[in-house]
Amino acid sequence: MKVLVIEDEQDLADIIKQGLEENSFTVEVCNDGEEGLFMAENYPYDAILLDIMLPTMDGFTVLHRLRAKKVKVPVLVLTARGGMGDKVRGLDTGADDYLVKPFEFPELIARLKSIIRRNKGEASPLIAIDTLTIDINSRTVTRDDKEIPLSAREYRILVYLALNKGRVLSRDQIAEYIYDPDHDLDSNVIDVYISYLRNKIDKGRKNKLIHTIRGEGYTLKEIT
Ligand code: CA
Repeated sequence: MKVLVIEDEQDLADIIKQGLEENSFTVEVCNDGEEGLFMAENYPYDAILLDIMLPTMDGFTVLHRLRAKKVKVPVLVLTARGGMGDKVRGLDTGADDYLVKPFEFPELIARLKSIIRRNKGEASPLIAIDTLTIDINSRTVTRDDKEIPLSAREYRILVYLALNKGRVLSRDQIAEYIYDPDHDLDSNVIDVYISYLRNKIDKGRKNKLIHTIRGEGYTLKEIT
């Protein structure tokens, strides 16, 4: 499998290249956005690892132009910026998945393989954690391949937790994210929604994904 790495930090690019090669990938590296776009448009790759902050052209623009030209290669965005705005913008632009730096190499390999596999079907922005899958396009959530109906608010909370996988989010942060001008959301209300989500996502399953961090808030992650 052939991967294009568009990353301007040479040290990081070298580490990624070496790590991918050890996992039997063929790797080409570009250090700036314009060259990366040219390579992605003109050569076949199984996947692209795309940094956002790049010289000559930022990663969002690269992605936008690729998708505008109907280049459907799966793209995994590597970003140092963990902000929600960036993530949503990237998913809207057509990224297949995200990884926030610094990342663990096994996770990079797993996500990369996952977007390549998924692309053999139809590329669609999916978030997959353990057996939980969130399809951003269709707004459907499945666990163990079974669709789970969620209310709009439960869905938003779940997406917020999933996009911040492994990070602890306080009740206030969650309340702020699902802010609704028509209803005053007490942060205690968050506990109620989390319990609804747990019932739907985790109940009766061995691998729980939603975890309470006492005194801090909630996190969504797989315990391995
Ligand atoms: Ca960079």
